[in-house]
Amino acid sequence: MAKEELECSFCGRKKPETNLLIAGLDAHICDRCIEQAHGIVLEESKQTDNSELSAELMLRKPQKIKTFLDEYIIGQETTKKIMSVAVYNHYKRLLQQPSDDDIEIQKSNIVMVGQTGTGKTLMAKTIAKMLNVPLAIVDATVLTEAGYVGEDVESILTRLLQAADYNLDKAQKGIVFIDEIDKIARKSDNPSITRDVSGEGVQQALLKLLEGTTVNVPPKGGRKHPDQKFIEVNTENILFIAGGAFDGIDKVISKRLNMQAVGYSASKSEEVIDQENLLQYIIPKDLKDFGLIPEIIGRLPVLTHMNPLDDKTLRAILTEPKNAIIKQYKKLFEMDDIEFSITDGALDFIVHKAIEYKLGARGLRSLCEEILTDAMFELPGSDEKTLKVTKAYAEDKLTKTTLKKLKAVS
Ligand code: ADP
Repeated sequence: MAKEELECSFCGRKKPETNLLIAGLDAHICDRCIEQAHGIVLEESKQTDNSELSAELMLRKPQKIKTFLDEYIIGQETTKKIMSVAVYNHYKRLLQQPSDDDIEIQKSNIVMVGQTGTGKTLMAKTIAKMLNVPLAIVDATVLTEAGYVGEDVESILTRLLQAADYNLDKAQKGIVFIDEIDKIARKSDNPSITRDVSGEGVQQALLKLLEGTTVNVPPKGGRKHPDQKFIEVNTENILFIAGGAFDGIDKVISKRLNMQAVGYSASKSEEVIDQENLLQYIIPKDLKDFGLIPEIIGRLPVLTHMNPLDDKTLRAILTEPKNAIIKQYKKLFEMDDIEFSITDGALDFIVHKAIEYKLGARGLRSLCEEILTDAMFELPGSDEKTLKVTKAYAEDKLTKTTLKKLKAVS
């Protein structure tokens, strides 16, 4: 065949009509056909991604789930174990084949009780990351009953749809993390509240979502776009994780434990109660006494607690997780060819200050930021190629005023 007669074996274009014609064994392909074929390959792989691949991810065994959580979350062993089982069961239920026996597996929605900054959000985020499912994080304090100022409970699903790029199928298998669930507890002992706008009504509205229902959701949320089309979202397979500090619940637990102690005979071998961490004894009834309605508690059947973070945990959080704060700074400096190191003394100092000023795990980042800002400003582009942060260096950068400022914003 003469050279000028060459043509694309796929679309028949002659060589001069193409930008590029690639030769194979017995055929030729032009640039346009390559691009088209590439598009098809991408589309195909996306589809398999959504179905088979995520099914495989979703059915990771509980121990595998826990190993993944271990990479990102320090301590909180009990909760990691409980969450691994709950997540496994949830997705097992979701992927189960319909069968003729009428055993229906219930949803394993979760409630986590623990002080702020102990990693509740991180737990939900890590699980969503592992499963590659969309996650919506919502704050229960902004939710109100329909008709009141604030966000309708349905707006939770709008957020989830947004997180799923409006892929309904993905959203319906996603995770919703409802933070500050304790703030919608019933405040019945407050006589000045005639209508408990932010409390029981919201709990009632939440009930349906938790249980599994079909909701017409405005894609943009809110009532400001009355003519937008609704999207029908089924919440049956959405995993709800609620979290809250439940300030004061330790008193409820303590009271219950003491009452139990009176009830038992003295001869019974008494377990020593760890007064420092009463949350570990939490039972659903405590949530009820705190002000959650029994129906809500029933629909959040997995109850777990987060331990307060001690100095050892805080120290580990700085350096150990896969994306630990210190590892992140190291990487940032590396990008400017600067070798960054920090001494044990400096790390202990940071932890010490976080505890002294009650800044928690969240404060670790702000403390590091204060200590390293000068260096991050001055070193890039200078001749200095190493930075060693010692305790003295950290002390020098962290003045009392800065610490007070950090405390005020925490
Ligand atoms: P909460 O939701 O309980 O208020 P977060 O999950 O937002 O707490 O935690 C705040 C930050 O503290 C997280 O971004 C994370 O970096 C860190 N953190 C808290 N607890 C842990 C933990 N157990 N392991 C690793 N990092 C943690």
